[in-house]
Amino acid sequence: MRSCGDGLGSRRVLPLLAFPVLCLTACQQQSNAPPPPPRCASSPTLAGLGEHTPASALTSQRIPLWASRIQSFLDRGVIPLVDLQSSLARSHGEKYLGEALWAMDELGIALIAFDGYEEPEPAADEESDTYNWGRYPEEVAERYPDRIIPATNGGRSPNWKTGGDAFVSAVERNIRSGAYPIIGELNFRQYMPGWRWEPGVTGADRYVDIPLMSDKGRRILALSSETLIAVPAHIEPEDPALEDLEAALAAYPRAKIIATHFGQVRRPKRCTRFGPDLVRRLLSTHPNLYYDLAISTPGHVHYDPRVFDGAIWRDGPNGGQLAEVKPEYSALFAEFSDRFITGLDYGIGRSPLAAHLSAKAKNVRLILRDLPESCRHDIAYRNAWFLLTGGVWPEA
Ligand SMILES: [Zn+2]
Repeated sequence: MRSCGDGLGSRRVLPLLAFPVLCLTACQQQSNAPPPPPRCASSPTLAGLGEHTPASALTSQRIPLWASRIQSFLDRGVIPLVDLQSSLARSHGEKYLGEALWAMDELGIALIAFDGYEEPEPAADEESDTYNWGRYPEEVAERYPDRIIPATNGGRSPNWKTGGDAFVSAVERNIRSGAYPIIGELNFRQYMPGWRWEPGVTGADRYVDIPLMSDKGRRILALSSETLIAVPAHIEPEDPALEDLEAALAAYPRAKIIATHFGQVRRPKRCTRFGPDLVRRLLSTHPNLYYDLAISTPGHVHYDPRVFDGAIWRDGPNGGQLAEVKPEYSALFAEFSDRFITGLDYGIGRSPLAAHLSAKAKNVRLILRDLPESCRHDIAYRNAWFLLTGGVWPEA
């Protein structure tokens, strides 16, 4: 269905729901013409993208700015990246954002959706049932509406991890307010971040452990079902976590779940099911599943020096990893090019923002390098466009 976009002109960003109707008409008029070549390996269709997301009034106002920004890169022959998975603390933004805005232009990063942190930082009382909603992403999006998209606060606070439901209630309120086109990354199952880890620390493997099908998870999934706004979920692909994911996808078929950090396998012995075959089955069965490519660079280790945590990279000589995607994963990205999105994964504990964006954008472009041209556009920005706006970016 997307292949009909040619006749519509590459610079038009059509209002919601208008595109399928116009496309249908164009297709009917061209019914005697030979079918166009497949866009990607399996010629993914709009059907795979799921339902349209109704945009709030605020998002609708900003959509033309986002569209112009994306188009400005396309006009220069650059495939723009739209990052749906980064976090920005006020202290980092005040220090690094100015330089990073210039870096975005140079790196071909059109838009970044930043989620926020609790402000001021909470006391380490994990039993508390309060949450102070941080407004910094909204502030920077107001200042730079053509570059920054506000996501809700991310799920990483003591209240989210072990406290009551104050954070979840705040997410519900703020999403329903219409101020955010996407939920911030919620850590459901997460190992302790490498920058926090030190030898001898305990509990590193259960740093966050909240099933998607828990009470908190169900409320978030119900919110996504109600609003059709996507929820990025950090889950380590351990066997029980994958069962939980599949149960959630089936129980909440309207919830758009972005499983973050595709192919990040840090404890291989616990992740015996994860691999291209399992992912192919999940994507084929559940049209509400997406993955982001916020994945480690080749040769990266977490805190087990014996394990490279990027499972998609080819093995190299002498036990190393090559800067090349395994063919079975490239085939998967092409076959389901409408289900993978860009994630650059900035947050506290990382290098300065511009340097981080440079390394992560390079990594995403390395993943895209060997894919058919149309698939690169899908994964770089078109799928993000759909999740943010509910519209389909017309093909050139
Ligand atoms: Zn994450």
